[in-house]
Amino acid sequence: MHGVAGNLAGGTHHAYRDRGEAYCLFNDLAVAIALLRTEGAVRRPFVLDLDVHQGNGTAAIFAGDPDVFTYSLHARHNYPLRKDTSTLDVELEDGAGDEQVLAAIDATVPAALDRHAPDLVLYQSGVDALHTDRLGRLRMTHEGLAERERRVFAWLESRRVPVVITMGGGYGRPIATSVEASAQVWREARASLARRQAAALPGR
Ligand SMILES: [Zn+2]
Repeated sequence: MHGVAGNLAGGTHHAYRDRGEAYCLFNDLAVAIALLRTEGAVRRPFVLDLDVHQGNGTAAIFAGDPDVFTYSLHARHNYPLRKDTSTLDVELEDGAGDEQVLAAIDATVPAALDRHAPDLVLYQSGVDALHTDRLGRLRMTHEGLAERERRVFAWLESRRVPVVITMGGGYGRPIATSVEASAQVWREARASLARRQAAALPGR
């Protein structure tokens, strides 16, 4: 158990308990949490959703459930038009770039993690905040997104919280720009895994 797992798909955060929505047939984040809770494997899960669209289905499914923290950072004017209420919603204006997004996560993610003290984080790592994205409305660069990943993984490492990574949106034109941004998530995840493994070695 090294604390980093992931799925090269998923992050289907728009699906509700009773219906699919917006490319999302069922909410894999919610299903995973439900299964893990049934097994007694997790008590205080935390969904960290940095996709540029609100995790509306996840927010609705866990509304009123104090043991599940739903965090969503998204563009205020983006889909879905009618938003649900997450435990914490962080909204960005159209055109926000690296500086604004990184400042927003700095100001909210570590504090939210400390407030909830999760025993598992599910990271929805959508890369549709990229400036080439057709649906994103934000202007992040590849370097800015790589920095996002480094900060997220560092915050989780320092708190010794295991993480499950899912992908999320990415609709770049050309699509290769989104592929590169998603690949960065996994490069940084691999680096994080290596650091966690090194730290767990006896004698270090
Ligand atoms: Zn999205």
